[in-house]
Amino acid sequence: MSDRRIRKVVILGGGTAGWMTAAALAKVNTPPQFEVTLIESDEIGIIGVGEATIPTIHWFNRLVELDEAQFLRETKATFKLGIEFAGWNGGNSRYFHPFGRYGGPADAQMFFHRWIRATLGGFPHGHQDYSLATLAAMANKFGPPAPDPNSLFSTLGYAYHFDAGLYAAHLRRRSEVLGVKRIEGKVERIEQDPETGFVTRLTTHRGEVVEGDLFIDCSGLRALLIEGVMNSGFEDWSHWLPCDRALAVPCERVPDPVPYTRATAHAFGWQWRIPLQHRTGNGIVYSSRFAGDDEAASTLMANLDGKALADPRLIRFQTGRRRRSWVKNVVAIGLSSGFLEPLESTSIHLIQSGIAKLLSLFPTRDCPEETAGQFNQVYGADVESVRDFLVLHYSRTQGRDEPLWRHCQAMAVPEGLSLKERHFTRTGRIVLSTDELFREASWFAVMMGQGLRATDYNPLLDTMPADENLAYLLRLREQMAKAAATLPSHEEYLRRVMGPA
Ligand code: FAD
Repeated sequence: MSDRRIRKVVILGGGTAGWMTAAALAKVNTPPQFEVTLIESDEIGIIGVGEATIPTIHWFNRLVELDEAQFLRETKATFKLGIEFAGWNGGNSRYFHPFGRYGGPADAQMFFHRWIRATLGGFPHGHQDYSLATLAAMANKFGPPAPDPNSLFSTLGYAYHFDAGLYAAHLRRRSEVLGVKRIEGKVERIEQDPETGFVTRLTTHRGEVVEGDLFIDCSGLRALLIEGVMNSGFEDWSHWLPCDRALAVPCERVPDPVPYTRATAHAFGWQWRIPLQHRTGNGIVYSSRFAGDDEAASTLMANLDGKALADPRLIRFQTGRRRRSWVKNVVAIGLSSGFLEPLESTSIHLIQSGIAKLLSLFPTRDCPEETAGQFNQVYGADVESVRDFLVLHYSRTQGRDEPLWRHCQAMAVPEGLSLKERHFTRTGRIVLSTDELFREASWFAVMMGQGLRATDYNPLLDTMPADENLAYLLRLREQMAKAAATLPSHEEYLRRVMGPA
């Protein structure tokens, strides 16, 4: 049995994906059963964007036992309660996609039905008044979820904004302490077993040879192993997600950073603003079919939050995914496995989703095809559900008449999304499979934000007198406003958690 065990794992790439994978493998491999070697090239560097996360990041940080205060200090992180979408329905329109839940602590999905029923009867108060994360974010306040499930504060949820380079460096230090070996060098030669096709060794430009049983391709958009050697194939999704370029520019920090990402729609794409402790990340994502790089750069520079600290950096990408992320003894994690686009900050989540699946399906040296097949199936479903959520933002944009948005409004959307929209407008329900990343609150926020409206609610609610429902909603609204007002400012909370420098 023991000669079937993996003895050497090689990670190619030291960006966020590479070091997250290394940190996770180092953590679960104690006492060490196999060696972990990571190769990265200083000359190539990392993509260096990817600074906003979603709440699933807590799973990963817990897995690798990151101390929150140290993590916040070392990565210059801020808290994130959600994303504000500005201009997605034209003009000064705004809506918020909050983390956490809507309604009171015991409401669950019934809150949506209570609120839909009330609004169909003319109730004037918006659903955003029932999300503590939205109320806190709009007042630049912050608080973590309360552990007491009966507390209104238990409905909060949060993630972080952080400096991607500092996060990778933080994970690198921890991984090296736990025994991960790092090799700096540019891989120039990849060898395969002539019989099995398995990758056997990598050689760097310095002639250093690294052998392995299992290779994790974290080489970013280059996808050196999964595409360059395994020819996995790429499924292009640019007909649904048309943006293919980004310009990123770091800016000076702004006073009192807000606890949310802002995504502002422009004529040919959208712009992000991510506030960190030491600077503000700004960038524009656009479709080269609808705008030139100069036009995008001047729009970005005219709309910066904070003074630019560098010239904008151009990043080209193609939306879509690798047809198979695991082929033979190569597993792609991170941008090598595909890229959707950064609108809902889902890439780091997909990295950890890949890591979680790799850990639960950790193979023997023969890497059975069935194991790879299972990985590809579950990981593929995860990526598709994220894709559909992103497409919703584009396809349902209203009140914008520019060519990009007209194209998006006219495009045929994936069937799963179409089903979700139909079901929601007809019944007020959101159809979800058990393992979909975005849950009811997220879909509800974006569907409502993009102008979809439910025309009915759960009929069982009719057993409750209408005025009782209204009284409940009015009482809850007041309680939520009061609760939000008691939270400290974002900056104050940040300082409190980080403690003295
Ligand atoms: P990279 O960072 O590109 O790392 C690749 C590594 O491979 C590097 O270490 C490189 O040196 C190494 N390498 C490559 N070739 C060789 C070779 N021949 N030899 C040796 N080493 C090699 N994600 C989010 O979750 N939130 C966001 O807000 C977000 N915003 C984004 C905005 C934009 C515009 C883009 C394009 C992406 C964004 N992402 C975001 C995605 C996020 O940046 C990536 O998922 C994340 O950085 C992981 O990248 P990576 O490690 O796969 O690749």
